[in-house]
Amino acid sequence: MKNLNEIIQECKQIAFDLNFTKAHTWKDAKEGRVIVGYMPIYFPREIIHAAGGLPVAIFGGGDRKQIIKGDAYYQSYICHIPRSIMELALDKHMEHFDGFIFPSICDVIRNLSGIFKQQKIGKFVKYMDFPQNFLPQIGGIFYQQEMQHVLEYIKEINGIEVTTEQLNHSIDLYNKNRQMIEFIYDIRQEYPWRLSIEDVYHIIRAGTQIPVEEHNEILAQICEHIEKNIGTPQDKVKVLISGAFCEQPAIGLIKAIEEAGCYVVDDDYMLGSRMIIGDIDATSKNPLEAISNSYIQQSQYSSSIYDVHNPKEYRLAKIVERRKADGVIFASASFCDPSLLDAPIFQNAFNKLGIRYIAFQYSENINQYKVIKEQVGAFSDSIKLWEDEPVVVK
Ligand code: SF4
Repeated sequence: MKNLNEIIQECKQIAFDLNFTKAHTWKDAKEGRVIVGYMPIYFPREIIHAAGGLPVAIFGGGDRKQIIKGDAYYQSYICHIPRSIMELALDKHMEHFDGFIFPSICDVIRNLSGIFKQQKIGKFVKYMDFPQNFLPQIGGIFYQQEMQHVLEYIKEINGIEVTTEQLNHSIDLYNKNRQMIEFIYDIRQEYPWRLSIEDVYHIIRAGTQIPVEEHNEILAQICEHIEKNIGTPQDKVKVLISGAFCEQPAIGLIKAIEEAGCYVVDDDYMLGSRMIIGDIDATSKNPLEAISNSYIQQSQYSSSIYDVHNPKEYRLAKIVERRKADGVIFASASFCDPSLLDAPIFQNAFNKLGIRYIAFQYSENINQYKVIKEQVGAFSDSIKLWEDEPVVVK
């Protein structure tokens, strides 16, 4: 087994490789392989895997890609991620990609899918609608048709007709992946000093760039390492991060939050990798139905889901309670409508429930966080000075 530091360094390399070298090498190794890029938040990667493809998350250029051409496609008062994705596409970082999926979450992503189509980037471009109707016989069927549509696109490229067995095998691999990621979060809830949130971020993000089999091997080793009593506890409060599900903060900001006196014990960075809570049935005769049911019945709260019967503010409060967190940091990308529209809903509920929080906005390419670090530091100090009873959500 490799040592922990070695594994983390590898993940760091993979997570921020804007040339997607691992994916390209994987594709070149065998005839008929396809790469399908997808944007946040969530996409059922299992179906691409079953069809002989590699799903690769596109999180934008962060603070590592200068925007020159991308700005020409968007007005100034929207978030940053679509510009950096355009820049990556126009600079041919993704020229080996066969297709692109744009999950429905906001108008920005919808428009980006239109620009990709107009610019003829990739062999197919799909704007993928997720159901907002949570009845299996309505929203569920619709979602299965959307997945079928993606499989047809891939079949046109590699001729593969997916079987029930292949789909169930892929579901099983991603179940294992989610189980190990949750294990890491569970360990960190009790012993957050064993692995920093920066390391967790690199490990999970690397998994969105490589085959799931490879990521599962990495996760298995990480789990083994952090089961041991490593690291030294520090005097920090425990917090949750909410709102950073799409455009990602620069890694320096992710790190700065823990340096400012907080252990981040849960977050919605790269939410797609943790979107389904628990396992998806990997024995079903209709695996697409199983995936669809998991989305309808087991998905995490998110700004992309309107589920009036299961209010997200109480779901987040439940996570605060379960993780024994001292407070919440609402971190939203600037101009991110889904996140910023949800923020007052969360904050109103938290005022009533007595959950402490702060809020700030960031942009993926901004790497000056002095003010945010001071704000987070003051938040952590105020919690330490005026400790409250643990949150209990009724
Ligand atoms: S950051 Fe927000 S507004 Fe921008 S593309 Fe993502 S969800 Fe849409």
